[in-house]
Amino acid sequence: MQPGPNNIYKCPHCGHFLKERTLLSGNTCEAMFYSDGKRIAPMLPEFPDLTKCKKCNHIFWLSIFKIVGQEDCWNPDSKWADAECAEFLNIKDLFRALEMYPKKEKDIRIWILWTFNDRIRNGKEIFIDPDDKDLWEQNSNALLKLFDDSNLERKFLKAELYRNLGEFEKCIDIIESINVSGMKEDDAQWVKSLKGQMKNMAEQKDRLVFITSEWGEDRRGGFYSLDKVTEYIIYERLKKRTVNRESTRSIGHIKSDIDMITNSDTKKISCFLNLTGWCLNMNPNGSIEEFIEDLIKHKWILDLKCV
Ligand SMILES: [Zn+2]
Repeated sequence: MQPGPNNIYKCPHCGHFLKERTLLSGNTCEAMFYSDGKRIAPMLPEFPDLTKCKKCNHIFWLSIFKIVGQEDCWNPDSKWADAECAEFLNIKDLFRALEMYPKKEKDIRIWILWTFNDRIRNGKEIFIDPDDKDLWEQNSNALLKLFDDSNLERKFLKAELYRNLGEFEKCIDIIESINVSGMKEDDAQWVKSLKGQMKNMAEQKDRLVFITSEWGEDRRGGFYSLDKVTEYIIYERLKKRTVNRESTRSIGHIKSDIDMITNSDTKKISCFLNLTGWCLNMNPNGSIEEFIEDLIKHKWILDLKCV
């Protein structure tokens, strides 16, 4: 993970400065996936677009305003010493945002769901304030109305919401309606696994958010700068090669090797190749240059311009 420069924004209401952190690169190693659709990736942290000014409490979207300055994150500029880091909104502020930006209702309500569930993820009780339960129910019911079940993701979301609300039969009905025929084998496997986990939780009458999978078990794990299909192919090839060679290298090591290749740095790619012994099976006797050319030709790596 490489942090990028901090962008500086100005509050449109009072002129106070805010700092937005950025990333140059990252990956989803060690990422956790949850039943509510949230992914938490320590090596790919997310930063908010919807935030609030810490001086006047005004809520706004950073992306619709111009960046007024930038600073190196390792060497902060004293000019922006008063600028505070933009943070995600809390539940109260998200409900305030809902009134201000009704066109963004779907996004904001998903964030409300995730923010309530973050309490469970952090080992706390889901309801803290007396009106929390009502707000949470109101939000879950609104989400059920907002989303149809026209695709897989939405079906899983609706099943999750019914499970959260204690309507276990409705949850199971949706889960059972998900048909894996016609899906690619690896897709079907992943969907079947998630169906099984979700159904099991509903049968146990468990309403809380749960971890669905971790990196390495989940086809969605991968790299920031590669496209989704490619990252999976590379990962599978690495894994297969490692198993075939009866290497003692752990998947953790392989993951850090892959991490290196995502950095646009010849030395690191060279190191990666030495470590893994050309395990991509593409061009076993070729040079690094040929290897990189191949990667670019097949769009396996999308951004290697600076190599
Ligand atoms: Zn302000």
